[in-house]
Amino acid sequence: MYNLEQDYGSFIGGAIKKRKIPKSEDEKKATREIFSVKGGLIHLVNALRDEIGLENFELEAENIQFDFVDGKYKLKDKGDEFTHLVSTINAGNLNETYTFLKKEEASPIDNLLYAKVAEVTLGFKKWGGIPLDAFGGLVPFKENRHVLGVLFLSTLFENRAPKDGALLTIFTGGIRRPKLAELNEKDMKSMIAREMKSMMGLNEFKPDLFEVNIYEKAIAQYGVDSEDRLKTIAKFEKEFNGFYLAGSMRNGVGIADRVKQGSDISKLIID
Ligand SMILES: Cc1cc2nc3c(=O)[nH]c(=O)nc-3n(C[C@H](O)[C@H](O)[C@H](O)COP(=O)(O)OP(=O)(O)OC[C@H]3O[C@@H](n4cnc5c(N)ncnc54)[C@H](O)[C@@H]3O)c2cc1C
Repeated sequence: MYNLEQDYGSFIGGAIKKRKIPKSEDEKKATREIFSVKGGLIHLVNALRDEIGLENFELEAENIQFDFVDGKYKLKDKGDEFTHLVSTINAGNLNETYTFLKKEEASPIDNLLYAKVAEVTLGFKKWGGIPLDAFGGLVPFKENRHVLGVLFLSTLFENRAPKDGALLTIFTGGIRRPKLAELNEKDMKSMIAREMKSMMGLNEFKPDLFEVNIYEKAIAQYGVDSEDRLKTIAKFEKEFNGFYLAGSMRNGVGIADRVKQGSDISKLIID
């Protein structure tokens, strides 16, 4: 919406004008259909690793700090220098990583609110509940349930469960009920058991796989503060040549948005 307003002068007028612009070959290929990667998303990560070379990654790095010295980005302690720096860390304390940014100047970015979400994965070798002939379901707040939604992964994608089995992902927590994402494993299991029995027609809750992943900064919330954040990002990118602030703090929150953003930034750098 911000880009439509900036590029075309207004949101509605921009939306109409943009529709008239012929799509590029790449844009034509992009659809709004649900997608994954054959065999699971790990194959996307593995393909990136193989293309770039594992020796070019530094995994599990902590306390990374960059200075900006004589037009170059210098990795503190190690001394390596770079002409370009693309950041995809979450907003929060940017100046701790990028020491050349002043905390108070970065605050419109750092104040970005994120929803906290717990993702519960359930696997059943034999499914005994309602037919899973849908993508899943999202739960309206007024239904006063403890889960945000359920995805039927084994319906959406191939080879995610045995023939009569099921793989489900359940989301809980969110901006209105973050405490639910903080439940300990025992309480989480009994809450999920209660909800699954009543929502999914299960007589008993005995999953073969039960796994909880908690995401502190799960989904960036684009509120009225977005304009200030985007202006601050633009200001930093102008001030510090070759510095890009990316990730879900801008350009959308979905995986497809990340892939597009990565491609766009790499083209900018190559140009
Ligand atoms: C449970 C859940 C389900 C989702 N489902 C979907 C879906 O079905 N489809 C879809 O399109 N999108 C989905 N999303 C959204 C999508 O996954 C995220 O919006 C996307 O991953 C954001 O990408 P990102 O790279 O900006 O941030 P992240 O994936 O959050 O990555 C940021 C990384 O930076 C690291 N980091 C932070 N600070 C530092 C630091 N100082 N030093 C080093 N590393 C640091 C973090 O550890 C993290 O690994 C889902 C999100 C969640 C949480």
